[in-house]
Amino acid sequence: MKITKVLKFNVIWSRSFWVLFLLLSIYLKAQKTDYLMKCWSRQVSPLENNILNINYSESYNTLEHDLKPWDQTNYNIQGKVWIGKESYSKIDKYSKENKDYNSGIQLSKDKLLFMNYGENKISPVTKEDMYEQFYLSARYSPLFLINYFKEQKVKIDKENENKEFAVYKTTINKSIVKLFIGKKDYLLSKVTVLADDELFGDVLSVFNYKDYFNDKIYYPKNVSIEKINGKLSDEVNISKLSIDTKIPTLLPTPENFTFKESNKVKPETKLEKYNENIYFLELKHTDDRVLIVEFKDFMFVAEAPVNSDNGEAIINEVKKITPNKPIKYFAFGHFHPHYIGGIRSFVHEEANIIYNQYNKDYIDYIVNAPHTINPDRLQIEPKKIKTLELKDKLKISDGNYEMEIYYIGKKSDHTVDYQVYYFPKEKLLFQDDLIWISKNGQPEKAGTRQEGLYRAIKDLNLDVKTVVQSWPVSDYGVKTVIPFDELEKTVNIN
Ligand SMILES: [Zn+2]
Repeated sequence: MKITKVLKFNVIWSRSFWVLFLLLSIYLKAQKTDYLMKCWSRQVSPLENNILNINYSESYNTLEHDLKPWDQTNYNIQGKVWIGKESYSKIDKYSKENKDYNSGIQLSKDKLLFMNYGENKISPVTKEDMYEQFYLSARYSPLFLINYFKEQKVKIDKENENKEFAVYKTTINKSIVKLFIGKKDYLLSKVTVLADDELFGDVLSVFNYKDYFNDKIYYPKNVSIEKINGKLSDEVNISKLSIDTKIPTLLPTPENFTFKESNKVKPETKLEKYNENIYFLELKHTDDRVLIVEFKDFMFVAEAPVNSDNGEAIINEVKKITPNKPIKYFAFGHFHPHYIGGIRSFVHEEANIIYNQYNKDYIDYIVNAPHTINPDRLQIEPKKIKTLELKDKLKISDGNYEMEIYYIGKKSDHTVDYQVYYFPKEKLLFQDDLIWISKNGQPEKAGTRQEGLYRAIKDLNLDVKTVVQSWPVSDYGVKTVIPFDELEKTVNIN
């Protein structure tokens, strides 16, 4: 070997050695950095045993009983939060039609007091409700949650790690909660929560922290929140912040605090045979009435409230009526949860799902949503959706007995996708939630929904004697089996 070659070899070897050494030391340093601890020492520990007091304003969006799928109802909420290492309290307020609605929360390590909007007493809560607040408090400040992760000695999650963030993952209730801590500034950049929603399945919420301010303690002045896989977003802005020594008493403390049992609601059903073909199945636990129609060699079901458990309970009842006839059709009067919530069970049952152009995307979303946290039958055994489109009218017939489905849409003054069911032989019309006639007292002038239904029946020229309503059945003190004459009278009241 020539001398130059040996030298070159030595140079290369020593260079490689240094590169390796450098990489190894970076690796070891990365292994050693306790990002959670570093974050805690910036965002939690400077507070010591004091309480952070925050004034905030919040734009809060929810899905309520709106006109179109994914339409949002917005609330503008003002509130105050007191948050420490092991406590979180909140009072807030929103105004609607010149009325104020207040709510309150008081959470400590093993207790939760909760007063809902418009209530004046403490609501019963489960242990799960309490644990949920561990991460819901992070809407306003991540302080409590960071401390909880530190106390629980949550380990770094290597799988989710990247250049920018160190990720820490734990499970609270059945929800998967992750902290994303910046590797450069050691500040919490975001929290993600993957939780089960009975309608939408696995839903991801993200709390993004912005505008960090340092005044002994680091805190974000802005929190933007994505909910239901980014379908909704909220915003919290902190206007004032101070450090207090103790939490004020916000809510009346009950003498003996205990948690409510978190037993799952058992579906309670009652079947009523209306005639040879028509059945009404009452679901007492949701206060709904489901329509079941028996044809010569198949079954038709309309409405399935809230979740897949109810869908399964309805299917069981249908099988009791007749074990061998397949459920060929499933329909829902409109896209609100009391009618669509159990749709996945009927997709699994391979029924034809009756839809219209206004709810097609929405049902596809619900049917395709992963339900890994709380699997239903469709999650365990996936099946492709079978569909049948309703345009203006659809006739379901076995060649002898028949029923009709009519699209009435905005005439309902309730949703764009509204449809009703008509039985020509019985002169009966089944609909979801448009009539509100009190059981007692003088009939009042029909509201816009009620009048809308009346006009739709007239426009369609249907000969109706009786209207049967799906929801509510016993709450609200309203009639749910209504002679058509009575409906007409309420429309004609001046
Ligand atoms: Zn509705």
